[in-house]
Amino acid sequence: MIISIIGGGIGGLTLGLALKANGFRVKIYEAAEEIKTVGAGIILGCNAMQVFQHLGIDKHFAEKGNVIKGMSITNEKLKDLSAMSLDYFVDKYGIGNHAIHRADLHQVLLNQLGDEDVIYGKRLKSVDTSSRQLFFEDGKEADYDILIGADGIHSKVRESVFPGQAKIRKSGQVCWRGVVDYQLPANNKNTFRESWGIASRIGHGQINERQVYWFALLNFEGDLKDYNNPNWRASFKDYDPLLVDLLNKTPDDQIHVGEMTELKGLANWYKGEVCLIGDAAHAMTPNMGQGAGQAIEDGLALANAMKKHRGDIVKSFSTFQAYRKRKVDKIVKNSWRIGNIAQLKSPFWCGFRNAFMRTTPAFVGRNALKETFEI
Ligand SMILES: Cc1cc2nc3c(=O)[nH]c(=O)nc-3n(C[C@H](O)[C@H](O)[C@H](O)COP(=O)(O)OP(=O)(O)OC[C@H]3O[C@@H](n4cnc5c(N)ncnc54)[C@H](O)[C@@H]3O)c2cc1C
Repeated sequence: MIISIIGGGIGGLTLGLALKANGFRVKIYEAAEEIKTVGAGIILGCNAMQVFQHLGIDKHFAEKGNVIKGMSITNEKLKDLSAMSLDYFVDKYGIGNHAIHRADLHQVLLNQLGDEDVIYGKRLKSVDTSSRQLFFEDGKEADYDILIGADGIHSKVRESVFPGQAKIRKSGQVCWRGVVDYQLPANNKNTFRESWGIASRIGHGQINERQVYWFALLNFEGDLKDYNNPNWRASFKDYDPLLVDLLNKTPDDQIHVGEMTELKGLANWYKGEVCLIGDAAHAMTPNMGQGAGQAIEDGLALANAMKKHRGDIVKSFSTFQAYRKRKVDKIVKNSWRIGNIAQLKSPFWCGFRNAFMRTTPAFVGRNALKETFEI
């Protein structure tokens, strides 16, 4: 029996790897003609890295990416409001957070999986669950025994299997992101910093020897087009010169922009022989840097549940959901909440927030991360 996966993104490829490691055969249908990722970086939390450690591929991330030993939240001028060392988690789990270019992350996953299991240029149109058939945009059809939807926030699998059940919720925050050739000062090479201003913020960190990844977010109302114009950088002119420099040195055609969104209202991730993972099931705003981490955790958890209950798909899917959903729901909620706090509009409340953060002991932040990093 072959397990069909729609979507060769971070979640689909990790699941493919974990299933193969558990002795299953997989076929991944990917819409893109070739793997092309946005030119951006990504933070892989200690939870995602534990999954890769389990799959025996963690060393590739250390080679291609950069270890993140600390995280800090600063004001616009890069003065710390709160700073946390991640040593505690390295000691506990034997592995730390890593930052990496998205293209390198995909390449590592693909190299490990092998290209033969991925069919490119296959964009799913719909699923017929009664005949267990897949219909693709190119007019072709395929049968499936077990189907996993790993096709992202706009999932066609979800649309077919759970019509009208989930809604995409907009945050009213626009995010520009890019990667630029840049060397941060030596004392900041292994820290990821997020600088909070008024109704805006910039995050940045070194992702390899050569490149820095940054993102810049702004609250907006009305039409996104009014904000996404060639002068968008002016909204960040009061930030520290280093941050302004990162934005200015990144060529326009290397910058990606989009509104931050999350998925709401999906009570169940599985039905019959079909199950959703990653953003298809629980897309979240990126404020905790955990969307990919949760998709990666899904991959290992589902593969393990299928191994444990081999031949019993209902038990496999229900075990998977019971193991994962409570944690994921909490992270989705917290991400939304953090996004609102990070981009408060009122200068008074921003001042209050910053004062509160300066006086909050580091262990509070560490305790909040404990559950997130536990897989
Ligand atoms: C600005 C921003 C910053 C982020 N930063 C982080 C971070 O630092 N750390 C972190 O952990 N997460 C981060 N995330 C979240 C993370 O990118 C996602 O949660 C993650 O990519 C989800 O993986 P996925 O495989 O579920 O979905 P996707 O990455 O969306 O992959 C879906 C795949 O399915 C394919 N596909 C789509 N439709 C079809 C179809 N009809 N037929 C066939 N194939 C299809 C797509 O081409 C794609 O390859 C960030 C997100 C954003 C927007």
